[in-house]
Amino acid sequence: MTTHPMSSPHPGTPDPTAPPTGEVLDVVGIGIGPSNLSLAALLAGAERTAGPGAPGGDGVRAVFLDRAERFTWHAGLMLPDVQMQVHYLKDLVTPVDPTSPYSFPAFLVENKRFYRLLVTGRSKVPRREFEQYCQWAAERVPNLRFGVDVRAVDWDGELFTVETGEGTYRARNVVTGTGLDPKLPACATGFEPHRVFHASQVLAQPRDFTGLRVAVVGGGQSGAEVVHHLLSTPDRPAAVLWGTSRDNLLPLDDTPFVDELFVPNYSTYFHGLPAARRAALVERQRMASDGVSASLLEAIYQRLYDLEELDGLDRPCRVLLGHRLTSVTDAAGALRTGWLAGDGSGLTEDVDVVICATGYRHDLPAPLHRLRELLVPGGELAVRADFSLEWRGPEQNRVYVQNAARHRFGVADPNLSLLAWRSATIANSLLGFERYDTGAVRAALDWVGHPAADADPDHDVPMAVLGHR
Ligand SMILES: Cc1cc2nc3c(=O)[nH]c(=O)nc-3n(C[C@H](O)[C@H](O)[C@H](O)COP(=O)(O)OP(=O)(O)OC[C@H]3O[C@@H](n4cnc5c(N)ncnc54)[C@H](O)[C@@H]3O)c2cc1C
Repeated sequence: MTTHPMSSPHPGTPDPTAPPTGEVLDVVGIGIGPSNLSLAALLAGAERTAGPGAPGGDGVRAVFLDRAERFTWHAGLMLPDVQMQVHYLKDLVTPVDPTSPYSFPAFLVENKRFYRLLVTGRSKVPRREFEQYCQWAAERVPNLRFGVDVRAVDWDGELFTVETGEGTYRARNVVTGTGLDPKLPACATGFEPHRVFHASQVLAQPRDFTGLRVAVVGGGQSGAEVVHHLLSTPDRPAAVLWGTSRDNLLPLDDTPFVDELFVPNYSTYFHGLPAARRAALVERQRMASDGVSASLLEAIYQRLYDLEELDGLDRPCRVLLGHRLTSVTDAAGALRTGWLAGDGSGLTEDVDVVICATGYRHDLPAPLHRLRELLVPGGELAVRADFSLEWRGPEQNRVYVQNAARHRFGVADPNLSLLAWRSATIANSLLGFERYDTGAVRAALDWVGHPAADADPDHDVPMAVLGHR
């Protein structure tokens, strides 16, 4: 367990970051990824700027817990040269609190990198740099406690009890920020983890791909990053088969009007839509969040050109478009993969390794499973505008979820773009007043109307009209 020296408790009161003492906390945060790190930073910010006695000045008695020994960010996929997909100013705090000491610019200035980063001309920094920034913040933001695994949350009729590897915390509210669980196709489960594994595990153990035949499943950003790595690494496989059910290797659409799906106005609008409409839109807007960065597609294309045209290799990577992986079987030491096309035709390919870049599950976070009975039943998780779950317990006690409500807030929910806005919304709810401005911002599009879910897609266009303010 590590806490930073700056993680100071309130003077004269018990330390909320000590192992549980039976003291009642206002909130326990479960998981310290970017989501809850942002919330912890904003709660600290509310206290810092208000001062004792003022609204918010006495703080929220909080502790945030993570099972990892220190902050790491998707370490299993931290391949060399991977880049962020959002601007660096969409950091933990800046969009809602640009004077926060935990901002990305503050990190740059303290590390004397400010001018040099600007000279690079980058608006999207390497993922390693975003991780370094979060590690820097995690050493400064108070009330964080690493090395603590949260097993379950219960409701004892009066308070939430948070069962951990070091005892039980009691709190009025809980906030999960436990991330998403990797999703494997059913046919790819049950194999030895060095032969068939999820993309999130690529770097989880030492691997040597030299001479192997490797299938990569999935045409999104992670699949593309893995393929680029396999084509560039010194232990390059003998052959790569890159299969996707998509019609092509499609780019992330971050053109200006589509990018307005990632401002607060759209999430607020989306939250008010009927369920069927929301589900249809998430599906239709997939390429705004799940496409591949254009720069990465270019890099892969150029790499293939060099390998085939300059080095004379024969198809080092075969791209299988419009095919879904349907079977994996053992075949005399190899893995026989079966693929099905949209027209019903199929093919099989023998490989040695299968890497599934097949995304993540958007489910009820695991530590909340025992609360399921108390949640409002229905087909989807009912998440209110303040990111708390509808439940049968007292109104003043809440279970907030970070990064678990794409179906309620749209494609921006799993993304970093609205991280600070979402945390600010939760911080306001916990504080009981509007400490942070989370209202509408100036934008080019006004979101109006509730078109039917089965509407002709072309008919959707008037839903967003160019506005003049
Ligand atoms: C490889 C990758 C790259 C991405 N890059 C971008 C990008 O460039 N731009 C963008 O907008 N989005 C990106 N995303 C999407 C999203 O921004 C990230 O997934 C982000 O990390 C989500 O933050 P989080 O805090 O919700 O979850 P996570 O970062 O997953 O953090 C969850 C934390 O919870 C902890 N935890 C889980 N269960 C428990 C438990 N029971 N007890 C204690 N601790 C627990 C974990 O140890 C972990 O530290 C990326 C996603 C991936 C997978």
